[in-house]
Amino acid sequence: MQAVNISHVDVSHAGVASLGTSLPDISQLGVESLWHPMTQHKPLWKTPPPHIVKGDGCTITTADGKSYLDAVAGIWCVNVGYGRQELAEVAYKQMMDLAYLSPTMSHEPGIKLAHKLLNLLDMEGRVYFSSSGSEANEAAFKMVWQYHAQSGKSCAFPRHKIIARHRAYHGNTLGGMSATGQAERKMGYGPIVPGFIHIPPPYPYRRNEHFTPAEHGLEMARTLEETIIHEGAESIAAFIMEPMISGGGVLIPPDEYLPAVRNICSKYGVLLIFDEVVSGFGRTGEMFGHQHWQGVQADIVTFAKGIASGYMPLAATAVRQEIFDAFQGEAGDLSHFRHINTYGGHPVATAVGAKNIQIIEEERLVENSRTLGAYFKSQLAEVFGEHPYVGEIRGKGLLIGIEMVADQKTKEPLETEKVATVIAKTKEEGVLIGRNGNTVPGLANVLVMSPPLIAQQKDIDRVVDALGVGLQSILF
Ligand code: PLP
Repeated sequence: MQAVNISHVDVSHAGVASLGTSLPDISQLGVESLWHPMTQHKPLWKTPPPHIVKGDGCTITTADGKSYLDAVAGIWCVNVGYGRQELAEVAYKQMMDLAYLSPTMSHEPGIKLAHKLLNLLDMEGRVYFSSSGSEANEAAFKMVWQYHAQSGKSCAFPRHKIIARHRAYHGNTLGGMSATGQAERKMGYGPIVPGFIHIPPPYPYRRNEHFTPAEHGLEMARTLEETIIHEGAESIAAFIMEPMISGGGVLIPPDEYLPAVRNICSKYGVLLIFDEVVSGFGRTGEMFGHQHWQGVQADIVTFAKGIASGYMPLAATAVRQEIFDAFQGEAGDLSHFRHINTYGGHPVATAVGAKNIQIIEEERLVENSRTLGAYFKSQLAEVFGEHPYVGEIRGKGLLIGIEMVADQKTKEPLETEKVATVIAKTKEEGVLIGRNGNTVPGLANVLVMSPPLIAQQKDIDRVVDALGVGLQSILF
């Protein structure tokens, strides 16, 4: 590796513009020092990733002045868009007032945000804060295990198994990874945590065509029930699901699925966990993804990403009162939740989170997600509906996926290189989109789009135009 003197990097002005001129190109410096997630590094030596110095609205800009419309909002998280001064001001003020507090104590931003989340969920209960979606799910798993051990409802053996679904992502920690139903995220990282069982999610596009979508939804719910019965209901602690699978390929369940799942979980005493890490905070056109199904409530809901629009690492695990009550013993016993995150409920993060939700409400971003998402889907259908490699355009709100196939009849997934080419060409047009990479072998064929919820029609038009160039490029 080339020796680099960074002693004269001027950190008093953010950004590469302030770097001393004798330094090598900052992108190259990054190639020599950063270990990026989800990245095969060898090719980076030839084409380093762009060095981004600025974000504003839906746009991010490189050091040499090239702008991209970020049609994935970071990693589905910058819901209120980049460069929000209100959030910076709240963070600044909170840092000056109280920069840190042990999560065993209370502070106003944390109290207010917990209260707000319970209100939005219409839930009586408690909120446990952490810093990432993985941690929020990890806390949920430990809570359900301990709840069953202490609730007095288990038979001889406390319930411990957790059912999750193929295609879903629930995090990179051991529990989160074990719950994840994506083979490529787990290969080589075993042994994983025992007791996680996977069932298929509804996948209307690839359903057995003897079933209507509604029947398919109910059939998939029946798979849950059969799994519970065959594993022994008394051994099942919880079922975790995203209301809509996001990173696993944007899979939207038929309307019949969630209510049926709720009934099955209640029937067998299985706690239902909704992972709203992506689908929360307006992403799908309701404040929370599960709120598309009125009256369907979870026992536990996990949040991250849009809770602070990515401005701060913040996550939360909200539980119903009955679950919290099972943790209330006597001082000195072990019935309390023996789990802590140093940065959980960080005062600055919760202050930013509360302000972020205020912005989402005041600017009616949930409504914008709903109407703009409908426009987005209709434009995609109009422009690309006849494209030979477009299998299905689907989504809710501003969570959109396009499943790419080599053959519309057989639905054979389009080869990886072609999907990658679409993304690369779209990027050359100045628009960033993503895909369900490294999920299920052979099925990384879904293009994903989730622009900030502040996007306007002109932004969507730009995404569609750029994508048009990308999709055109694989036709010849
Ligand atoms: N759950 C879902 C549905 C996610 O998409 C993610 C991350 O993308 C996580 C959990 C984990 O969140 P984090 O990366 O903040 O740990």
